[in-house]
Amino acid sequence: MRGLIVGRFQPFHKGHLNIILDIFKKVDELIIVVGSAQKSHTLENPFTAGERILMIDSVLKKYDTHYLIIPIKDIEYNSIWVPYLESLIPKFDIVFSGNSLVRELFKERGYIVKKPKLFNRAIYSGKEIRRRMLNNENWEELVPEEVAKIIKDINGVERLKNLSRDDYYEN
Ligand code: NAD
Repeated sequence: MRGLIVGRFQPFHKGHLNIILDIFKKVDELIIVVGSAQKSHTLENPFTAGERILMIDSVLKKYDTHYLIIPIKDIEYNSIWVPYLESLIPKFDIVFSGNSLVRELFKERGYIVKKPKLFNRAIYSGKEIRRRMLNNENWEELVPEEVAKIIKDINGVERLKNLSRDDYYEN
């Protein structure tokens, strides 16, 4: 059975890892769609699709599992988002998402959709990690060590801080 999970992974954190490891027990292969692939260099979406793919792969390759990581950009039409995804990724049987919009769109298309249990969402969230980065707090403890290393290698915290300056324009 092939499963699907969609996320922005800004950045990939231990909450994401926790549910993905749980999903691996239920499927033979997992498609991991890196959503909002066109977005980067903003306060909400600081990392490029390529950087996010590297983060996920650097962690998951240690495990004996089958997965495909596919970047997909957003489209304006929620109503045709699922068929749009279907045209770009291999067939899948089951969808896992904690995001109510994502769950609704796949359910309406007839898919089996499961809501995974959240793993300490108050701290294991991209928003909290980005907040800590901006405030010089400990963000490293919330991400796998491979992800922390990639963020440091690309000067990710410095990027986020530069983006938060009020003279920095978003295009
Ligand atoms: P996310 O990175 O916030 O989360 C990814 C998954 O991990 C979600 O299922 C979430 O519930 C789960 N998760 C997050 N923290 C967790 C924790 N602590 N414990 C357990 N699970 C946790 O990404 P998201 O916002 O769900 O991503 C949805 C993507 O789909 C976005 O890129 C969005 O733009 C895209 N989308 C696009 C369209 C469109 O283009 N029209 C429509 C719907 C969704």
